[in-house]
Amino acid sequence: MLLQEERVLVVEYGLRMLNGGLVKGSGGNISLCNKDKTLLAITPTGIPYDSMEPSDIVILDLDGNQVDGDKAPSSEVAFHLGLVNLRPDIISVVHTHSLYATTVACLGWELPAVHYLIGHAGSSVPLTPYATFGSKELSENILATIGIGNATLLANHGLVAVGETLNEAFSAAEMVEYVSQIYLQARAVGEPVILSQQAMDEVLDKFQTYGQQKSGE
Ligand SMILES: [Zn+2]
Repeated sequence: MLLQEERVLVVEYGLRMLNGGLVKGSGGNISLCNKDKTLLAITPTGIPYDSMEPSDIVILDLDGNQVDGDKAPSSEVAFHLGLVNLRPDIISVVHTHSLYATTVACLGWELPAVHYLIGHAGSSVPLTPYATFGSKELSENILATIGIGNATLLANHGLVAVGETLNEAFSAAEMVEYVSQIYLQARAVGEPVILSQQAMDEVLDKFQTYGQQKSGE
């Protein structure tokens, strides 16, 4: 089987995504690219994470042709491929429907820097305009919105996070969910204080310089 290592990681993080409450059932999807081999490992459509096996993972070339695996790829394959082809630093894509991030997206809001841990995604998280799931239009909207950051909210849908590793993309998805919860709670009782661009620049700089401390302390 092609991309054995990547298959195992995608299955492992699928389970973490389910157990961490970031998705329900078979919702959401994960991909991990091997840029040297120009291949992408992506979750199949319709298989629950708790029964997914490495052999279920679908392998595509970067033009979207299926080269290994007998399952159909995730219905969101278009934006996974679009993102790994968009920026050389994007190796992995994690898409969730986590509750708080999706709530912010359903309000039509971007997520501002209400907590420094948003730095896993950027100095704020933009909002991608709504389009039908699985559509080319949704993929185009995401590619036009994500910019240089590691995440974007999807209006009336959920969240997409990216990273140089699967762990980085997953952490961005987790942190955007955490900061979304903080933001909604803060807005429920008052007017949250938003960190300045300068403060966030320092956070982003520190995250880059001290990669091992990126989980935040
Ligand atoms: Zn979705």
